[in-house]
Amino acid sequence: MSDRSTSEAMLRGVKLTCPACGQGRIFSSYLKVADACPKCGEELHHQRADDLPAYITMFITGHIVVGLVMMVETHFSPEFWVHALIWPPMVLALSLFLLPRVKGAAIGLQWAQRMHGFGGAPEAAPAIAPKAALTRPA
Ligand SMILES: [Zn+2]
Repeated sequence: MSDRSTSEAMLRGVKLTCPACGQGRIFSSYLKVADACPKCGEELHHQRADDLPAYITMFITGHIVVGLVMMVETHFSPEFWVHALIWPPMVLALSLFLLPRVKGAAIGLQWAQRMHGFGGAPEAAPAIAPKAALTRPA
C-alpha cells in the first residue's frame, strides 16, 4: 500500500502539474517532461510513459468522435463533404489536447505507485566495508 494518493497524483498530471506538489509544471515543452519539478525539486526523469498516452488518447478520441459521427449521421445525414470537413480537425484538436494530459496522468500513476525509480526508496547501500577496515594494522 502506497502512502501516495494515486487519484490525486493522476489528477495533478491531468492538470499538467507535478504529481508530488501539484504546483510546478510537469512538462518543459509540449510533451517533454522536465527532469525535475521547478517548485519542489521532485525528480521526474524516472517516468516511462512510453506509448501508453498515445494509446489512451486514441482510445478516448476514437470513442468520442465515432460516437458523434454516428449521432450526426443518424440525425442529420449530411453530405459526405460535411463529415470530411468536421471530423479530421476535431480528431486532431482533441488528440493534441488530450495527449499531454493523459501523459501527465500516466506519470502521476507511475509516481504514486513508486514505479521506475519514483520510489524514493534508497538504493541498496553497497555492502563494502570502509577502506580502513580492510587494511590490517602493521
Ligand atoms: Zn513538484
